[in-house]
Amino acid sequence: MRSKPLVDRVYKYKNKASTFFCPLCRSERGISISPRLSKKNYAQILLTSIVLGSFLFPFIGVKCFFIFFVSWGVFELAVRTDYKKQIACPHCGFDATWYKRDVKVARQIVKDFWVQKQMLSDKKNQPAAKQF
Ligand SMILES: [Zn+2]
Repeated sequence: MRSKPLVDRVYKYKNKASTFFCPLCRSERGISISPRLSKKNYAQILLTSIVLGSFLFPFIGVKCFFIFFVSWGVFELAVRTDYKKQIACPHCGFDATWYKRDVKVARQIVKDFWVQKQMLSDKKNQPAAKQF
């Protein structure tokens, strides 16, 4: 069994929320955001809903407080989408969120990643090969 990670020297995030090792390639990974909303995000939600609510107040009155829940949903969606973008391993293509949902899909994503990586390396090597 291979004990060495796929990539030894990985990019280090400065403000990382968590570090872990990729379960497939054993490379060290870091994620700069957490999947949960932070206190700063809640303050942003509050400010956004106050600004949008003050614009909508002359038209719909007290019902404008509903905008708070809409902006909360939008922020939650944005943070989770950002998190999902970072969770996929850039070295082997393993996506833990897909693995949790459907193993077959996660396996296909890794296969597609390696096919794409092989195609990119073939494209890089092709001009050099034509010279000979
Ligand atoms: Zn990996």
